[in-house]
Amino acid sequence: MDNLIGKVAVVTGASRGIGRATAIALAKNGASVLVNYRENEEAAEETLKSIKEIGAYGIIFKADVSDFKESEKLIKQAVDKFGKIDILVNNAGISNVGLFIDMNETDWNKMIDINLKGTINCSHNAIKYMIPKKSGSIINISSMWGDIGASCEVIYSSTKGAINLFTKSLAKELAPSNIRINAVAPGVIDTDMNKWLSEDEKHELEEEIPVGKFGTVNDIANTVLFLSKNSSKYITGQIIRVDGGIS
Ligand code: NAP
Repeated sequence: MDNLIGKVAVVTGASRGIGRATAIALAKNGASVLVNYRENEEAAEETLKSIKEIGAYGIIFKADVSDFKESEKLIKQAVDKFGKIDILVNNAGISNVGLFIDMNETDWNKMIDINLKGTINCSHNAIKYMIPKKSGSIINISSMWGDIGASCEVIYSSTKGAINLFTKSLAKELAPSNIRINAVAPGVIDTDMNKWLSEDEKHELEEEIPVGKFGTVNDIANTVLFLSKNSSKYITGQIIRVDGGIS
């Protein structure tokens, strides 16, 4: 049976949305899970409650992944509590919709720091523990916009495009250490990130998606789950699109 019993996973931004669904999916398959969050402790506790109801082990840990020292503490916490880290899901991210001309340096620094640097920070800290064990799987949550680019999400798309190349490059560097790095690139998923859309805008967007609807958090969680398991052991350096056929 290909399960995750005995494995330890860290999911960043697991208090809500895709991160929460991923943390629960990994726990359902036997992993012990560290649920990271930045602000929303109550929501992180909800994720942990679901993990415990399954009968799996979990902890919550507050850390801003854009801060290198905090990301270091985050990974160390998983190792201190569970003895190792096998799976890292770099999910924490923010978006900001608007014209590039209207943005300022603070806006783009924040997005680059959380989306891109957060992924780099956590990966760097996790591989320190993975390399000596010659084992590990890192899954980065990218976006279809990282591939095709989006008007009014120029910096967001840029961070995700950079995550794609980080994924491919690090996969090549760490393949000899038996550490796999892949990314999942979602299309439009029904989470808080899209709650600013009006009903009309939602409807218009749905019409552009060949399957005719937004994806669910579980569509992404299931793909992350596959990439974290031994079943995908020959897959590394890939950006897997989960987008209802938009591409
Ligand atoms: P969401 O519902 O807005 O949740 C974002 C999560 O990230 C929350 O748990 C939040 O924690 C956490 N977070 C934000 N900044 C953080 C930081 N600096 N350090 C640690 N955690 C932080 O977002 P989502 O839709 O699930 O998106 C998750 C990922 O999927 C993101 O990388 C996003 O870019 C990507 N994605 C989403 C979609 C979509 O349509 N939803 C499409 C493509 C890609 P708090 O609760 O504590 O604030």
